[in-house]
Amino acid sequence: MKPGAEQVRTDVVIVGAGGGGAVLGLALAQKGIRTLVLEQAAGPPGGLRGEILQPNGQQVLDRLGLLGALPSEAVKPVRLFHFYRAGGPREGARPRGEKPVLAGAGWVGASTPGAGGCEGGRERLCTVDYGMLPPPYNRAIVTLPNVAHHAILHTLESRVPGGLRYGATFTRLLREGTQVVGVEAKWEGSPLTVSAKLVVGADGALSKVREALAIPFKLHLYNEGYLIAILDRPAEMEEARYFVGRQTILGTFPAAAGKAYLFYMIPAGSMAQIKADGLEVLRGRWLNIDPSLEKTVQSLVDWEQTAYMPTGRVRASRWVADGAVLIGDAAHAMNPHASQGRMQAMMDAMTLAELIPACMERGDWSASALAAYERSRRPQVDMLQKMADEQVLFWNTGNPLLALLRDRVFRTLDRNKRLGYRVLAVTAGLSTQAPFGLLDRLMAAGFLPDPQADHLPTEAVVPGR
Ligand SMILES: Cc1cc2nc3c(=O)[nH]c(=O)nc-3n(C[C@H](O)[C@H](O)[C@H](O)COP(=O)(O)OP(=O)(O)OC[C@H]3O[C@@H](n4cnc5c(N)ncnc54)[C@H](O)[C@@H]3O)c2cc1C
Repeated sequence: MKPGAEQVRTDVVIVGAGGGGAVLGLALAQKGIRTLVLEQAAGPPGGLRGEILQPNGQQVLDRLGLLGALPSEAVKPVRLFHFYRAGGPREGARPRGEKPVLAGAGWVGASTPGAGGCEGGRERLCTVDYGMLPPPYNRAIVTLPNVAHHAILHTLESRVPGGLRYGATFTRLLREGTQVVGVEAKWEGSPLTVSAKLVVGADGALSKVREALAIPFKLHLYNEGYLIAILDRPAEMEEARYFVGRQTILGTFPAAAGKAYLFYMIPAGSMAQIKADGLEVLRGRWLNIDPSLEKTVQSLVDWEQTAYMPTGRVRASRWVADGAVLIGDAAHAMNPHASQGRMQAMMDAMTLAELIPACMERGDWSASALAAYERSRRPQVDMLQKMADEQVLFWNTGNPLLALLRDRVFRTLDRNKRLGYRVLAVTAGLSTQAPFGLLDRLMAAGFLPDPQADHLPTEAVVPGR
């Protein structure tokens, strides 16, 4: 052994303490399974990122005993998500005499006019009401950056001191024949050898574990990424708003502590140009989309309040090998339109944590024993990736015909309770079924009537009833 080199024996070694790896580490610790998590970063993430906990992610945190423990001053439940047409209303939708863009328009409350109606120069297309979902997960939760993640990491570290090593970078796999039996890493500059029954690649879209396993995969980088910002919000901004237009997307979500989270689509690689154009230009663009953002936009005074996030999709041909598995973005990164990437990483972790005790009992860590995890998770992930890609096609478009179809679908979803509920249940992570079949698509686009438009599944709740 080289001087300074260390050898560790454990049951499960997890590479990466992101959304998936941290949850798996904690779930296994709660089951009493010896686990070591290796994270290349020097400490918990401190960067800017907006986070929306969908109902399925809330369920995971609840199962881990953490949902109720999140600091109330850092989380904001949000029930209503309004979708608007960016670029002003269609001619027919604009109230007579009103200009397409009005300064200082007020925030929209729950009593919004019907889709196609016009408020303050904006045309509301659709409102998604999380209150229709079965309680207690009948809301989205917008958190300040990294709040849930820090809670998971902190609980893991206090439960298993030494079970999470920062500054530890995976370098290669250890094998005996075809079986993976551990990893080598660099920990604070010194070699670290970890023998384990199972190696988990939770190391993100550019996974080195996946590469070392020689698992074929496709990485698609989308043409658009997101400029995100955490800014001040006016007290009356209680609901989320999403503007879609010609190659334009701006999301504004109320967060806790008087903050708002902004999510703005920009061409990949254009952040340098946006910075060169200056803050005033960016503020102007946002105000042009939503004049009521005045106060929020004025609080943008430094690029430090912003961050750029590229978007990519990963499709790995398999997620399991003898003695190894991939979870989260390493297996299946998806476009953020699904609002589910991190939630799915967490669900992978919980599913795998349920399977590992049985593998321990049988002493079977073969790919065929681990395949139950992939079989259980793939259908939902594949469906979400496809749905997110359809949303990329219709939502990010500059093509007027596609935009017209998109807006028609939004308007249908506003009126058609059945289809609206289906889309909500998928986005909330509570359904594994695609929201639309072929006939549904024709109905959603307004080419066929839907005799079942008012039929909701039994679990749905009609708010206010
Ligand atoms: C703009 C944008 C918005 C998004 N919004 C949402 C949203 O609203 N809801 C949602 O659910 N998801 C969202 N996502 C997706 C979400 O961020 C990812 O799906 C999620 O972070 C994946 O978790 P993960 O644990 O698989 O990977 P990651 O979070 O990428 O974690 C991987 C970890 O592995 C570590 N690592 C990498 N290589 C090594 C190595 N060699 N050795 C040791 N450690 C290593 C990294 O440092 C990192 O900590 C969004 C993504 C983008 C781009």
